[in-house]
Amino acid sequence: MIRELHKKLVNQEITSERLTEDYFAKIEKKNPEIKAYLSLNKEFALDKARSVDKKIKNGEEIDLLAGIPCSIKDNMCIEGLPTTAGSKILENYIPPYDATVVKKLKESDAVLLGKTNMDEFAMGSSTENSAYQVTKNPHDSDRVPGGSSGGSAAAVAADMCAYSLGSDTGGSIRQPASFCGVVGLKPTYGMVSRYGLIAMASSLDQIGPVTKNIEDAAIILTRISGKDRFDSTTVETASKNYEDGLGKDIRGLRIGIPKEYFAGDGLGKDVKEKIEEGIAKFERMGAKIIDINLPSADFALATYYIIMPSEISSNLARFDGIRFGKSAGAESEKTGEDLNLLEIYQKTRAKSLGKEVKRRIMLGTYSLSAGYYDKYYAKAQKARALIRKEFEEAFKKVDVIAGPTSPTAAFKIGEKTANPLEMYLADIYTVTANIAGVPAISFPCGSVRIEKKDLPVGLQLMGKWFDEETLLNAAYAFEQSK
Ligand code: GLN
Repeated sequence: MIRELHKKLVNQEITSERLTEDYFAKIEKKNPEIKAYLSLNKEFALDKARSVDKKIKNGEEIDLLAGIPCSIKDNMCIEGLPTTAGSKILENYIPPYDATVVKKLKESDAVLLGKTNMDEFAMGSSTENSAYQVTKNPHDSDRVPGGSSGGSAAAVAADMCAYSLGSDTGGSIRQPASFCGVVGLKPTYGMVSRYGLIAMASSLDQIGPVTKNIEDAAIILTRISGKDRFDSTTVETASKNYEDGLGKDIRGLRIGIPKEYFAGDGLGKDVKEKIEEGIAKFERMGAKIIDINLPSADFALATYYIIMPSEISSNLARFDGIRFGKSAGAESEKTGEDLNLLEIYQKTRAKSLGKEVKRRIMLGTYSLSAGYYDKYYAKAQKARALIRKEFEEAFKKVDVIAGPTSPTAAFKIGEKTANPLEMYLADIYTVTANIAGVPAISFPCGSVRIEKKDLPVGLQLMGKWFDEETLLNAAYAFEQSK
């Protein structure tokens, strides 16, 4: 997709301005129903497009991403443009700087069309926790697109952008990619700078691409990864072009199948069948299928749902009505109400944060409090070390680990909102990669027919730390083979 568009631009079969206008036309037509975008930046995008056209006319060499329209999840800062993170508390927030990933895309001359909808502060699996709107799944408008990067996945699936950037703390790139039938990559922790990404849980968050195919994911990864002096957790990686590493034979590739992922009745029968067919296809292609054990699968979700809210309770303390966004203090000046500092904090947060965000702040504050720290937080950290260890052991025997991305295909809007625990279960297969820090990718592996609609199913591959090359190559081989 990206390469084709690039060729057309360079051969001057189409201008970037025209391409950008075409995308805005598609957005105008489809977005009122799908509601993938929160804000658009027409002028900003068209300015960039015209500047790329000029470069092409002058015979200058351009990057693969130059002039190609994309979208950005609304928790990444773009200087001068609204960034809400799906929350009312940031309704009026205009960042004074670019996130590192945005800066990098701008350096590649990418055209940024707008910002996509998401669960508030990336907390959710359906995009229903957005304070603004509910995004619909382009395959069935009664169903959710997944979350929290549901806007990004729906925008890519409905061709309202060529690709998008999402963020993944426990599956938020991969699960919506799976529900919408597109590709989603969560890179190794430390691969992509989190500077300018509004933090959810800092030890788990990673930014990654949501794309139409594997090659595009590789192209984006090459351009957004690398050491950043503004994020000390990023590491220097050999600067390679991931797109050049694709197309290698996968005969002999060792694919681990964790027994635990297929046991129990949580995994839908129809999804299970598709995943097994996918694994059989890998086998036909010459990969070696090896049964492995990941006993931690049983407590990964519990571990995640302690570590993640603990970090949230700390990270979200900054939204206090003083430094960022909406403030009960500013409003009280108009009404003449006399509020002290504590009351400003309390009123601002009570009014402008959503239910799920409050729930997680409370859970996290509880598990970090003096009386419970050892029982919950410290214990979860021990479990995390154990999970990491298990992966180290597994990766001595296999090159990648395969399984479902989600236990079901896209569920219905409203189906899980009454019971948050049920929503959390949607993350059962994705959180482990964030806990261990390993890279993971979800890509289409057929569809299941439910109520006369074909709903996509995603296959997940997890790889070794910083071995995105093997991961992408395996997924690419799968995609290319019919
Ligand atoms: N769905 C998961 C959650 O609600 C993951 C969110 C994410 O990756 N940002 O926490």
